Amino acid sequence: MKIGVVEKPGVLKRAERDVPSIKQADEVLIKVKRVGICGSDIHIFHGKNPFAIYPRVWGHEFVGEVVETGSAVTKVKQGARVVVEPIMYCGTCYACRQGRGNICEHLQVMGVHRDGGCQEYVVAPEANLHRLPDSLPWDEAVLIEPFTIGAQACYRGNVQKGDVVLVMGAGTIGLTALQMTKLAGATVIVTDVVPEKLAYAKSRGADYLINAKAENMIEKVREITGGMGSNVTIDAVCNKKSFEDSIEVTSAAGRVVELSFNEIPSEIAPVNLIKKELTICGSRLQTKRFPVVIDYLTKGQISLAGFVTKTYPIEQMIDAFEYVDANSASVRKVVITME
Ligand code: MN
Repeated sequence: MKIGVVEKPGVLKRAERDVPSIKQADEVLIKVKRVGICGSDIHIFHGKNPFAIYPRVWGHEFVGEVVETGSAVTKVKQGARVVVEPIMYCGTCYACRQGRGNICEHLQVMGVHRDGGCQEYVVAPEANLHRLPDSLPWDEAVLIEPFTIGAQACYRGNVQKGDVVLVMGAGTIGLTALQMTKLAGATVIVTDVVPEKLAYAKSRGADYLINAKAENMIEKVREITGGMGSNVTIDAVCNKKSFEDSIEVTSAAGRVVELSFNEIPSEIAPVNLIKKELTICGSRLQTKRFPVVIDYLTKGQISLAGFVTKTYPIEQMIDAFEYVDANSASVRKVVITME
């Protein structure tokens, strides 16, 4: 079967490998239909993901059809359409005991720590599968995982109906956070420095737009909110200044949700936390967000028009990565078809 593998940083290849076989009674063999390329896959390709182990079959955003099931599998049958939740956790560490396997001490992410979805067939435990309704096309289903990331940011920020949410950055993750916070009943302000991205955010429901290059972002948010600031700020810009700005711009009793993997420290004055009793939280991957997103998608409540920028067959995988690399300012999602 065909696979897409990052052999080592900077070396992405198409290769052939034997179809994997089921080894545990709870495992399922899946014929992969679509794989999405994530910013983090590009980072793995460039050797900039600190968690990646090489060589690695990339891909954590993938969907497919069940072709064979282990003897103990009860949830799915041959022919079932599924999305694979790409995280594996121990179930016994402190985080897991809190129901937060996404930050397990022994976390394994498919496509990062172990082989992922860019292969014609993949084996995964039954527990990692979510059934898809027949009405949901593959081209939409492949977007479930990225939308769980926005759903997690919304959940971590405890977004309530009527809250004013500031989403900093209208890239792929910012856009998923925008739609999830809108569905939670928030008023949403989106910032970016690229006018085309802001225009797309507007078309996906943003209530206010701020061009952070042309305008003073913090002043503008205060103006929009009558001086209050944003109740929840989701930092999907992810640099030193964006984290500092998040602390500054968020209202009293507000929540700051950080999505950055940045290792550069920001300068935060503790007094800003105390006087506003801010809650700052990280948001990584997702906890129990797959059913939430599948439900929204099935009901047609997430609007996906224009979300997929381009689709490539597996034979053109390298072109697809080059396209994402060359168009990082405008790409929302590039998808690989495996059939
Ligand atoms: Mn992703």
